[in-house]
Amino acid sequence: MFDKDQHMIGCGCSARRGFLKMASAATALGLAGGGLFTSPLYADALTKAQRDSMTSDQIIAAMKAGNERFRAGVRKDRNYLNEQRASAMWQYPAAVLLSCIDSRAPAEVIMDLGIGDIFNCRLAGNIENPDILGSMEFACKLAGAKVVLVMGHTACGAIKGAIDNAELGNLTGLLEKIKPAVQATTYAGDRSANNYTFVDAVARKNVEMTVANIRKDSPVLAELESKGTIKITGAMYNLETGVVEFFS
Ligand SMILES: [Zn+2]
Repeated sequence: MFDKDQHMIGCGCSARRGFLKMASAATALGLAGGGLFTSPLYADALTKAQRDSMTSDQIIAAMKAGNERFRAGVRKDRNYLNEQRASAMWQYPAAVLLSCIDSRAPAEVIMDLGIGDIFNCRLAGNIENPDILGSMEFACKLAGAKVVLVMGHTACGAIKGAIDNAELGNLTGLLEKIKPAVQATTYAGDRSANNYTFVDAVARKNVEMTVANIRKDSPVLAELESKGTIKITGAMYNLETGVVEFFS
């Protein structure tokens, strides 16, 4: 989805090695490269130079454009095998997403993204917790992603479960973490899980609260945002229209 044709291949290995010194964890998680890749074979994955040349707003604009292509049925003509080979030794994702496990809301598909373009945390009801925050801190502070996007969606089963006070094993505790959004949603009509207008209003509130909680619970990410290094924002995906509505 990102314009991978406008930059030269190669990201400056000395700079990249300095970057990697920030944490040995980076190596274990796939950031390490094996040297300069100058073959045209590697033209299909996002390079460090390409990713670093984009602002947070440009990355969000690229995701919006990808969703427009998805809705128009004109997805980018990509070769996944070339992307896989090009990104096998390193990765420079532009964003980290937190989205629901719902099978109908796969972020890479609905925003026409390729291999290596984004990190993607998926969790029922897209709420944050220390493990999610740790993943996001790795993605932004160590791996250089510039956008944190929390994406909720319409007709979310996790939201309906929280409204209905559903109970099942470990799911009970997960739904408890969504309930503050149910209580915080201002809605005068039928506040039941059968009313999809209310369900979607809660889902939106849940995204807003998750974005706020990320800032509150992660000083690392809050500092990056205050410096203008990253942007933390939300979005809602409409299952019926295919539209990803970005909050900013
Ligand atoms: Zn969901």
